[in-house]
Amino acid sequence: MKISSPMEVWKYLPGTNCKECGEKTCLAFASLLLERKKKLEDCPPLFDPLAKSKYGEKGRKLAELLAPEVREVEIGVGERAVKIGGEDVLHRHERTFFNRTALAYDVWDTMPEAELRARVRRISEWQKFYVGEFLRLDAVAVRSVSDDAERFAECVRQVSEETDLPLVLCSFDARVVEAGLKLAGVAERRPLIYAATERNWREFLGLAKQFEVPVTLFSENLDTLNRLALTFSLAGVKDLVLDPGTQPVGAGLEESFSKFVRLRRAGIEGEEKGKEVAFPLMAVPMTTWVGLAREARENEGNSETLEASYWEAILADLFILKYADIMILHSTEPHSLIPVRTLVANIYTDPRRPVSVNPGLKAVGNPSESSPLFVTTNFALTYYTVESDISSNKIDSFLVVADTDGLGVEAAVAGGQLNAEVMKETLESFAVAEKVKHKTVVLPGLAARISGETEDATGWKVVVGPRDSGQIPGWLEKNWPPE
Ligand code: SF4
Repeated sequence: MKISSPMEVWKYLPGTNCKECGEKTCLAFASLLLERKKKLEDCPPLFDPLAKSKYGEKGRKLAELLAPEVREVEIGVGERAVKIGGEDVLHRHERTFFNRTALAYDVWDTMPEAELRARVRRISEWQKFYVGEFLRLDAVAVRSVSDDAERFAECVRQVSEETDLPLVLCSFDARVVEAGLKLAGVAERRPLIYAATERNWREFLGLAKQFEVPVTLFSENLDTLNRLALTFSLAGVKDLVLDPGTQPVGAGLEESFSKFVRLRRAGIEGEEKGKEVAFPLMAVPMTTWVGLAREARENEGNSETLEASYWEAILADLFILKYADIMILHSTEPHSLIPVRTLVANIYTDPRRPVSVNPGLKAVGNPSESSPLFVTTNFALTYYTVESDISSNKIDSFLVVADTDGLGVEAAVAGGQLNAEVMKETLESFAVAEKVKHKTVVLPGLAARISGETEDATGWKVVVGPRDSGQIPGWLEKNWPPE
């Protein structure tokens, strides 16, 4: 993106404040455009054919200026489609990353059908609640092991029947990939095909054009990768993903890592020339399993499998940090999968905004009018920790969540986002007095210093709870009901 302030964007908008975009002013729309919460198409005057002569040129120029440095590629369709790439910065703190690393887990065409279907369902349905959202997996990578086009097509058919997740169709043989794409409905699901190389690029270019699907280019030689990207782009195929190879250990790993950094640096900071590789990057941490005998791979729990699954997670974590936009993985063991998915969730939050929940009054369990009333802030991590400590100990209670701009208790008290006035406003706006008859509120221990002034400002009795919500059960036994 070559433009960074709402005022710069505003200069290219019609400036009529007509509100057709749903915003009160063009400037408000400009801010949302920069945040990618609105699209240019949401401003009808810019795209109105009748107004073309007036604003069309500005619209085209603005589209160019707003385009992300790394091309954004969409894989799949519908609710579970994923966008990868589309990044503008090398480091998250410079602004934010926009699209999370997509995690594709593999299945292969020599799997027995029942096992295949069960694994696809497991990938498709896996979810874990974490700081206010369900983490899920993003795609299924269907690998050809047999090199048999018919067998691969049959495998793709079975996978498609089991999931609406995006697919990655993997083979270096274009005939095999084509057999999968020709199945009814598969190409329409916009799978990513993997992979065009120096040898087979003509066939893969043909497939990408014929079926209008994104395509991965693979070469461990960056010059070759660059040439392939240029060739495909010039041929009109621009939804590309680059795989520079993922060596799992030693000097090879160091070299792979360095290629990811060089490619992303060229994509974001490079002049016109570097832009030839400004595409999303793919890492394949499952290379850690290569060389492991099939029996060892399938015998889950043996030491080789355990080591491979741990090492795969380490590789994945490395490439989540720099700069994989999509990865193909194998181990669905919790000790491998959970750290990987959690790291993706943590890296791809917007550093400019704390992760927060809505303020309000929440009932935990089945509280009555004599149940305890706890206070917390709307920083998501704080809220879910407190809520979980109370609910897992089956304490029927009320939890009032103050709006502290997403800050935790200690920071909010220090910064003034949690003070006596805020407490008064919180208790009144959520009509807390209608829910409890005791008029006693339990402040977190970390907010002890505002207890006196809160009592004065609100007229409620304030008792100071523990500093750590994990100690609430023991604290309640001694302190509730209040005297
Ligand atoms: S629709 Fe376009 S011209 Fe109208 S207010 Fe929105 S940005 Fe401005």
